[in-house]
This record gives sequence, C-alpha cells and structure tokens, in this order.
Amino acid sequence: MLALITKIEYVAKGSRARRLSRSGRRAALLLRKLDTDMVLIVQKYGGTSVADLARIKEVARRVKREVDAGNEVAVVVSAMAGATDGLVAWARATCEEDAGSEYDVVVSSGEQVTAGLLALALQDLGVAARSWLGWQVPVRTDGVHGKARIAAIEIGAIARRLKAGEIAVVAGFQGIDGQGRITTLGRGGSDTSAVALAAALGADRCEIFTDVDGVYTSDPRIVAKARKLSRITYEEMLELASLGAKVLQTRSVAMAMNHRVRLLVRSSFNEAAGTLVVDEDEIVEKEVVSGIAYDHEAKITLRKVADRPGVAAAIFGPLAEHAINVDMIVQNISEDGVTADLTFTVAQADLDRAVAVLEECRPLLGFTALTPDSNVVKISVIGVGMRSHPGVAQTMFRTLADKGINIQVISTSEIKVSVLIAAEYTELALRALHTAYGLDRAG
Ligand code: ASP
Ligand code: MG
Repeated sequence: MLALITKIEYVAKGSRARRLSRSGRRAALLLRKLDTDMVLIVQKYGGTSVADLARIKEVARRVKREVDAGNEVAVVVSAMAGATDGLVAWARATCEEDAGSEYDVVVSSGEQVTAGLLALALQDLGVAARSWLGWQVPVRTDGVHGKARIAAIEIGAIARRLKAGEIAVVAGFQGIDGQGRITTLGRGGSDTSAVALAAALGADRCEIFTDVDGVYTSDPRIVAKARKLSRITYEEMLELASLGAKVLQTRSVAMAMNHRVRLLVRSSFNEAAGTLVVDEDEIVEKEVVSGIAYDHEAKITLRKVADRPGVAAAIFGPLAEHAINVDMIVQNISEDGVTADLTFTVAQADLDRAVAVLEECRPLLGFTALTPDSNVVKISVIGVGMRSHPGVAQTMFRTLADKGINIQVISTSEIKVSVLIAAEYTELALRALHTAYGLDRAG
C-alpha cells in the first residue's frame, strides 16, 4: 500500500495533479488493484438528493452499502434543494453592490449544513465518517469570488483518513483562495468539486447522483420517446451540458474529460443503472447522433453596419468587456454593398445589457436599427459519429422544412449542428428530429 500512498501524495502536490500523465494515473489505479479489490469511489449528491432529513438518511444508507461492499467512499454534497437560492437572495438583499468575498461566506454555508448532517447520519448507522469543509481539505482556488476555479486539491489528509476506513463527507461548491478567504465555484459547482476530488484521489469512478436517472437522447419532458443513453462520450456530454441539458455543470465535464475521470450519472431515487460518461474508444456502437438539445437564446440584429475592417471587433469587443458571451453569428452584405446586416445571439439573461452596451456604441458603429428578439430557441443535434457520416445537417434542414419551420441562423462544429428557430416550434422540431435520426424508443 505504501507505493499507492506515495502515488497519491504525488498527485496531491498541487498543480502537479493536472500534469500527472494518464499512464501515471493508470499505474496508481493498478497499484491499488494489486493490493486489494477495494475500489475508491467519489459520490456526489445534488440538492434534491439531500433535500430533507429523510433524503439525507437515505443517502447515508446508500453510502453504507458501498462501505459494506468493502469500498472506500468520499462523498461530496450540495446544499439542500433551494437553500443556495435563499442564501443568494439574502446576500443580494443586504448589499446592492457586488458582495465580493462575503457573498461566498454566505452562500457556501448551505453545503456546511448538509456535510455535517450526512456525517451525523452515517455515524448514526455505525459508519465512521467526518465532514470536510473546502478550507479544511484544502481545496485551493483562485480569488474570483462567486466563480472561482480550483487550482489544486491537497488530498494527503483525506487520503489517509479514507485509508483508515473513515468516510469523507466533503462540502461541495467551496474552496479557499490565496488570501485564506472562502470561495465558491459558481452555481452548480459541486459537480466540479466532485470531479476534481475524484481526479486528485485517482478514484476509480465519480458517481453523480441527481433526480434524473441518466442522460437522455433529448428532454424527456418534451420528447416522450426519448431514451436513456447507457454511455456517452465526454465530448458529447460537454456539448449537451453547455447546450442546456442541465444534468451536469459544464465545467465539471471539461474537467472530467481532461483528467479522464469516469463519470456515472444516476438517480438517488431509484436503482436504475445511469449513464456512463467515458472516452470515445470505450464506446463500441457509436450513434451518428446521440442527442438533441435546446436552449433559449436571444437574437440581436443590427442593420446597415459599415462593411469595413475592424467593425466586427468594434461590436464584439465591448460585449466581451461586459462579460457578455456571443454564440451564433451571421453577417449579410446589404443591397447597397457598403453596409452589412449583422445577426448574433446571446444568453437571454444578457439581452438587456447587450442592447444597452450596443446603444452606447451606436455613434461609433453607425447601424441604422437594432432589433432584439428573445423569442428564439437554438436546437442542436450532437454526435461524435458525425465526423465520419456526411448528411447529418441535410437531414436536419429537410426535417425542419417538411414541418414548415424556418431556420434563422445556422452554426456547426465537428460534432454538432445548431439552428435558431422561433420558440413556438421547439417541441415540434425536437420531436420531428428525434424521429428523423432514429432515436425514438421502441413501443
Ligand atoms: N449549492 C450550489 C448551487 O445550488 C452548488 C451545487 O448545488 O452544485 O448552485
Ligand atoms: Mg446540480
């Protein structure tokens, strides 16, 4: 076991964890396997899974099952469902200005409560357990309050206690910055806490427990024939997560992909198998299209913008400076040939700010009209199989045309085709495309 501990200590040395090669991590796992059949699992329970004391006791029983099976378990918890929303509201109501580092002190407290309660519930079942707050681990982050990034996790102490048979219950969503202040990782951040901990510990897998039993081919609330996927690639999951399939925080998927952490998304409300998020080479039967996602966006059209070098930079620069992300962009030369019409999309929540920023720059940009439209939805089909199968976009365009749905903007990437359509066609488009790509569940 000594070799393994050395390996974990090595992984624990801050940013080196990032650089540890894939083979190095495999070697660490192999050492563990040679020593014993024991598996190290990181389990993360989201807000609905720890929504009340009954749920927390249920989670404790689930964790105990793994312990009884002889596995090491580190658990990462979210705050009780709704708790963080309430804390955010308190912080905002107290201080109209940016609450800065005190915001994190307030909103991180939800996870402190659930970590303590789950440790208590485990102890009540006779399982050795203790809670760990972010600063106690410590989870080191940068100092961007409210949206910090994890720089390193020092797992030396946790690894020793795990080894000694104690369950670690870690408060998700929080860390500590270089000034010793508490930080939080952005909403939904405990997914990222869990993946980061799994990577640092060299865990065999990271199980994300939520209130849905896996990742579906499309939103089952809209597409009744949506199927649960047994496996999906990191890349596809990354696209789905960033396109509004809100099962996992996008950043957590990127981190799992970079560190090759095997992710299992499953429900804490039943025993269903869940969806495994893995490397492409672990998927034998690749579908051309694995999923269809949708996301509400807002569209802005600028008429008669001067068609000369530097104009795009003059428009998108100020938006970027105001931290407004632009997604799809199209530019059309207008009839006169000297001006162009420009259409692009932003998140709905950013629309008013984007309009204000652009109006401010209007004298410089010289457009004749600005038309905002928040009644649009982006529909995206995603699949790694697209790389080797032509015609995916054509199927999309044909299917939408047959339903009389007008496409306003198109964008593509290697494994994704997205179109912008009027919001009222969302359901019709999702269902028709789901059928067209052969994704419908039988029966
Ligand atoms: N409790 C935090 C939130 O609601 C973090 C999380 O649940 O992942 O955003
Ligand atoms: Mg969540």
